Amino acid sequence: MPCPLAKRCTLHDQLGTRSALTVWQTLFCDSGFDRCARYRLVAVRSAVPDDLLPDGRSRLPPGLAAPAPLRKA
Ligand code: SF4
Repeated sequence: MPCPLAKRCTLHDQLGTRSALTVWQTLFCDSGFDRCARYRLVAVRSAVPDDLLPDGRSRLPPGLAAPAPLRKA
């Protein structure tokens, strides 16, 4: 089941268009969103760092613009 936040998550859009980042979309957005650090922060209503990647340990590589925060529904 895909992540229910996909339409609100600006990182999701960027993951799908950047070949180096599509692995995150496959591993988290498409079926493992319950493991996504961003999803978990939203679930507990915490702020999500703009450049936080789904594994929670990685940040966007230098040179790639950080996405805007999650859009409000
Ligand atoms: S990055 Fe995380 S919160 Fe964003 S769409 Fe993917 S699984 Fe959902």
